[in-house]
Amino acid sequence: AAETGGDEMEAVKNYFNTAGFERWRKIYGETDEVNKVQMDIRTGHQQTVDKVLKWVDEEGSLEGVTVADAGCGTGSLAIPLALRGATVCASDISAAMAGEAERRFQEALKATGGRPPKVAPKFEAMDLESIPGKYDTVTCLDVMIHYPQDRVDGMITHLASLANNRLIVSFAPKTLSYSILKRIGELFPGPSKATRAYLHREEDVEAALVRAGFKVTKREMTATNFYFSRLLEAVRQ
Ligand code: SAM
Repeated sequence: AAETGGDEMEAVKNYFNTAGFERWRKIYGETDEVNKVQMDIRTGHQQTVDKVLKWVDEEGSLEGVTVADAGCGTGSLAIPLALRGATVCASDISAAMAGEAERRFQEALKATGGRPPKVAPKFEAMDLESIPGKYDTVTCLDVMIHYPQDRVDGMITHLASLANNRLIVSFAPKTLSYSILKRIGELFPGPSKATRAYLHREEDVEAALVRAGFKVTKREMTATNFYFSRLLEAVRQ
């Protein structure tokens, strides 16, 4: 099983360094080179990011707060966190993604004319289960979709070991209606189906968080036509 897991992780990494990189950098971008489905996903994903930013803003200044953003993609969350003064370590299994996130951070800094955070963010190519260190907050948005259920426990255990206070994760929820939708989606093969997508039961994710010593304190759900994401904030007990 471990070997299958390794192969699958290699496939995810290759995808997000090649065709997946091209697809997702457009979806997570601002240009109009996206189709209707991709635009819908862009809108839904941005809502998830905005919900996280609202949560962190409600808690006060991020100045000097350390954050690890695991599976940062193009930096949709890591960049606004860094621009709010957080000390950000962003990483992604895809070097192309981590590089794009860094490029967008430099661009955003120029565009806002804002002050760079006291500590410059780091963008690294790394599997999230290899991230070292300790952080006030660990975030991991829409990455679990690449994890089969039997690897979720290990993933959450590792992310939890990095978090001194808070863990923010989002995942595609496994409910009957979303399982049916996913099945229908699979009947229409397309370039987007280059990796498998896994839905997760909220109870399973929550149980893993509890086992790791965390308690869920906030929940949100974002659903557009083609984007579904359950968002949880958990704090160390
Ligand atoms: N978190 C970002 C966001 O919300 O904008 C990106 C989400 S994107 C759907 C999933 C990302 O997870 C991809 O950039 C992919 O390369 C990354 N990823 C998948 N498996 C990973 C792993 N094991 N470790 C680190 N990153 C991973």
